[in-house]
Amino acid sequence: MKTFSHLIEEVQNRGLCHHCGGCVTFCTAINYGALELCEDGRPCYKDKEKCIDCGLCYSICPEIGEMDEEVKRQASWSPPMGAVMRLMAGRASDPEVRARGTDGGLVTSLLIHLLDRGLIDGAIVSKRVGPFHRQPWLAKSREEILEAAGFHFDISHGMKHFSEIYSTFSPSVLALSHLVKGHRNRVAFVGTPCQINAVRRMEALGIVPSDSIKFLFGLFCTGNFYFGVEQRRVLEKIGNFRWEDVRKINVKEELMVHLHNREVRYLPLDKLDFMKRYACQYCDDYSAEYADLSFGGLGAPEGWTTVIARTPRGCPALDDATGDNVESYSYKNNPRWAFQAMAKVLEWSEKKKQHAALQHQELENKAAGVLDSSGCEKPG
Ligand SMILES: Cc1cc2nc3c(=O)[nH]c(=O)nc-3n(C[C@H](O)[C@H](O)[C@H](O)COP(=O)(O)OP(=O)(O)OC[C@H]3O[C@@H](n4cnc5c(N)ncnc54)[C@H](O)[C@@H]3O)c2cc1C
Ligand code: SF4
Ligand code: SF4
Ligand code: SF4
Repeated sequence: MKTFSHLIEEVQNRGLCHHCGGCVTFCTAINYGALELCEDGRPCYKDKEKCIDCGLCYSICPEIGEMDEEVKRQASWSPPMGAVMRLMAGRASDPEVRARGTDGGLVTSLLIHLLDRGLIDGAIVSKRVGPFHRQPWLAKSREEILEAAGFHFDISHGMKHFSEIYSTFSPSVLALSHLVKGHRNRVAFVGTPCQINAVRRMEALGIVPSDSIKFLFGLFCTGNFYFGVEQRRVLEKIGNFRWEDVRKINVKEELMVHLHNREVRYLPLDKLDFMKRYACQYCDDYSAEYADLSFGGLGAPEGWTTVIARTPRGCPALDDATGDNVESYSYKNNPRWAFQAMAKVLEWSEKKKQHAALQHQELENKAAGVLDSSGCEKPG
C-alpha cells in the first residue's frame, strides 16, 4: 500500500507538489491527524505514528494517475477540454457585487443566488488577509461571500510587510475539514483547477469531506505567482511602474497591472516564468476541466466573466440565476462571441497541455539520464 511517504518521494521530491492540500485535508477530516501543512505550504507529517497506512492520501493526489479514469467519469469529462454544456459571458446584476468582483463578479453573484435559493448553506471562498494574500474561508452569509469577492491583489491599504513573499495561492481545500466539524453539508467550493481535481478524487472515492460539496466552481488558471521582493523589483522594471502607484492586479491573457491614474500595464504571461511556482509548469488544466462550472476573464469583454457550465449540477444552477442575480451578455453586441471565446479557451488549454507534456518529458529524460548536465541530449 502506497502512503504519504511515497507522495514525498514521487511528488514532493520531484518538485511536482502544487500544495493543493488534498492529502492533508482528508487525513485531518477523517481524524487520523498524521499530516499538516508546514510553514512553507508543503504537506508534511505532523505525527507519523498516527498514520494507519490507509493509502488514501496517495490516491487523492492529482499528481498520481491512479484515479484518473474514475475522476473523468465522475466529471463526465470529454476531450479536448472537459465537458461543455453551455458557454456564456455573465456578470452580477447587482452593481455592488460587480464593483467588488474580479471580472464581472459572476462567481460571487452565483454563490449568493444559491444561498438565497437555499441550495447551499455556505461557500468555501478565499478571503483577502493582506495585499497579495488570501486565506480559505467558509462564508455563511451574503455579506461574507461578498467580502471574499475578487482575486486581484489589492494594495490600496499599503504593503505593510513588503519584505514578505506573497503568493496568489490560497489552500482552499483545507477549509473542507471544517465542514465535518461544523456539520455543514451543502457547500459550494471555489478553487483553482488543481484543487477541484483533488476534491473530485475524494468524491470518486466516496470519502469525507467531499460528500458535503454540492457545487464545484473552478477558476481558469495559468499559474500561481509569487510576489517576493526580487519578483516585485523585476516586475516594476519590466512593467515600468512603481508599486505605490498600483491600484489592482488581475490575470487574463496577460498580467494586468492597473494604476491609480487609470493606466493599465499588460505583461505577457510567458515572460513571468521567473515568478511562477515551479509545480505549475507541470500542470495541464487551464479551464478547471473537472468543475461543475468554470470561470475566467479570458474571452469575455471587460467587466464580464466567461463561464462554462459542464455538468447536470452546474448547468441548471446557471440557468436559474440568469435573469435574476446574473445578467447574461447580449449576443446582439457580437453574434460570434461564444465561438470566439470557446476558441480562446481551447487555445489556452492546448497551450498549457503542450507545455506540461514537454516539461514532464524533460523530467523523465533527466531521470533516465538522457540529458547531460547542460540539458543537451547525450551523444549516441
Ligand atoms: C490563482 C488564480 C489564477 C487565475 N488565472 C487566470 C487566468 O490566467 N486567466 C483567466 O481568465 N482567469 C484567471 N483566474 C480567474 C479570474 O481571476 C477570476 O477569478 C474569474 O474570472 C472569476 O471572476 P469573477 O469576477 O466572476 O469572480 P468574483 O466574483 O470576484 O469571485 C472570485 C472568487 O474566487 C475566490 N478566490 C480569489 N482568489 C482565490 C484563490 N487564490 N484561490 C481560490 N479562490 C480564490 C474568491 O474568494 C471569490 O469567491 C485566476 C484566478 C486565480 C485565483
Ligand atoms: S493515515 Fe492514511 S491519509 Fe493519513 S498519512 Fe497515513 S496513509 Fe495518508
Ligand atoms: S495531494 Fe496536493 S498537496 Fe498533497 S502531495 Fe499531492 S499535490 Fe501535494
Ligand atoms: S497552474 Fe493553477 S491549477 Fe495548475 S497547479 Fe498551478 S495553481 Fe494549480
